[in-house]
Amino acid sequence: MHSQFTADPSSNDTVERDLTVGDVPDLRPPASGADRAPMFDVIIAGCGPTGAMLAAELRLHDVRVLVLEKETEPKSFVRIVGLHIRSLELMAMRGLLERVLRHGRRRPAGGFFAAIPKPAPEGLDSAHAYMLGVPQPVIERLLEEHAVELGAQVRHGRAVTGFEQDDEGVTVELADGERLRSRYLVGCDGGRSTVRKLLGVGFPGEPSRTETLMGEMEVGLPQEEIAAKVAGIREAPHRFWLRPFGGGVYSVVVPAAGVGDRAEPPTLEDFKQQLRTIAGTDFGVHSPRWLSRFGDATRLAERYRVGRVLLAGDAAHIHPPTGGQGLNLGVQDAFNLGWKLAARIRGWAPETLLDTYQAERRPVAEEVLDNTRAQMELLSAEPGPRAVRRLLTELMDFDEVNRRLIEKITAIGIRYDFGEGPDLLGRRLRDIDVKQGRLYGLLHRGRGLLLDRTERLTVGGWSDRVDHLADHTAALDVPCVLLRPDGHVAWAGDDQQDLDDHLSRWFGEPAG
Ligand SMILES: Cc1cc2nc3c(=O)[nH]c(=O)nc-3n(C[C@H](O)[C@H](O)[C@H](O)COP(=O)(O)OP(=O)(O)OC[C@H]3O[C@@H](n4cnc5c(N)ncnc54)[C@H](O)[C@@H]3O)c2cc1C
Repeated sequence: MHSQFTADPSSNDTVERDLTVGDVPDLRPPASGADRAPMFDVIIAGCGPTGAMLAAELRLHDVRVLVLEKETEPKSFVRIVGLHIRSLELMAMRGLLERVLRHGRRRPAGGFFAAIPKPAPEGLDSAHAYMLGVPQPVIERLLEEHAVELGAQVRHGRAVTGFEQDDEGVTVELADGERLRSRYLVGCDGGRSTVRKLLGVGFPGEPSRTETLMGEMEVGLPQEEIAAKVAGIREAPHRFWLRPFGGGVYSVVVPAAGVGDRAEPPTLEDFKQQLRTIAGTDFGVHSPRWLSRFGDATRLAERYRVGRVLLAGDAAHIHPPTGGQGLNLGVQDAFNLGWKLAARIRGWAPETLLDTYQAERRPVAEEVLDNTRAQMELLSAEPGPRAVRRLLTELMDFDEVNRRLIEKITAIGIRYDFGEGPDLLGRRLRDIDVKQGRLYGLLHRGRGLLLDRTERLTVGGWSDRVDHLADHTAALDVPCVLLRPDGHVAWAGDDQQDLDDHLSRWFGEPAG
């Protein structure tokens, strides 16, 4: 059970509530203001899904964390995003899945690669083999609530505008001139990341070639008439729909006339004009709830870490939303980084552990960028790409092709490079049955886990960081696995000495 704190928005202090354990970290800044001693362990810029997830992961290890969010209010748009299998598994690993499921709609896992309508193959390797459609603001709220329940402090209306780092920490400057001190700073501040720009980290890639208008508005025609008109458009582009959202409101997506200034929101007139161009009618759209535009720029940060400052989520990579992967990728970055940064702060991290964050996650982002590039080509209306799309659609009838593409989109095919070993090494382990219920139920505290069918191995001096479940009934093909806090297999075997070497590699020196 964890200590619970909530941030009091009227002050910079935290208010303590429902305390159940003794070792309560003091999250309050010193009364004298910023001096050279870090007042926080980690400051996170940005409370989007990535920042909120990272804050929660850090709090599992009692790290003093402050999240600074530029906006005072939650996002106004109600974009439905898809949580894919791996993200749903992460939610299950932290006891959040039931909460998230209450707010979403389950859909089949297949049909997301370039919107090619093929069902998922039988027997995907997951106990959570579906997609969940959830409004993005709801995901953000749930993750922020989770972080705050665990004791993270979140301050809204506080933009990071500058920082300086030295050997001991980072001094972070806010828009109102306040200066705060922490040991590490993580930029989770989105695609236009201030932190990344101030770090001087390059963001090479391709600029937007196309833009898409997206919004919610009322429509002046009856639903049947709209459906008939949309169905009557031959050669409709893939980036075009009018879908009823409830209460007379429609979700409208239409290609923009060109590539403009995305800092400027589009107008209702822009939507009308583009609807007329594509459909010959503007459908009488009126009374917009929100209007936005997005592009297909594809970029990857050259580095994810410079000294004590790190990048995660859209701050480190951007790509078109095809396949619905960006939020998933960011939340999974946070899941990879959280325990490593916490280990560094708690003092038990092996020397190179923090470097594995970039080594593991940057290639994953590289691959997502590539698959979105491919998907964008497959969505083109040109005859060549249309022919390739027809061919791929045919090839997806082969189970292995379909499976490979779904494993990419859902991120369950990821295998980190941990060196030589069985195929399981570096992969995530599915939520298998164990004698105490489900495996993921044992990972809520974000600790390592030795799952031991031999029932004779031990975690010895690492028991303060790693749990041990001796269970000869566990549904495993190998005698024993060591799981990292992110559920990836760090070792498989049955030899105690070999296990100890791997415990040192991932969890540092054993306690004396
Ligand atoms: C149309 C569309 C559909 C999409 N659909 C999907 C989908 O189905 N599935 C999916 O996985 N992804 C989807 N995405 C992508 C997804 O929305 C993003 O990848 C995700 O929001 C990234 O999360 P983040 O936390 O890294 O960044 P953001 O969500 O951008 O959050 C960054 C936060 O940082 C704050 N901030 C910025 N600057 C500062 C500063 N200087 N100081 C403090 N705070 C700051 C911002 O206010 C914001 O709250 C879609 C995107 C679009 C455009």
